[in-house]
Amino acid sequence: MVKEVKENFQCEECKLIYKEKSIAEKCEQYCKKYNACNLEIIKHAINEK
Ligand SMILES: [Zn+2]
Repeated sequence: MVKEVKENFQCEECKLIYKEKSIAEKCEQYCKKYNACNLEIIKHAINEK
């Protein structure tokens, strides 16, 4: 489940935070499926791992 953090959205798998819920959801789906992060997605993250 993507978690809402203030006005942003966190991927519960990798804990990265995104401004767009849709991107956080994509990240989470990818993280769950591949057990790794997609660089094309995580470049949109607003925090560092
Ligand atoms: Zn993720």
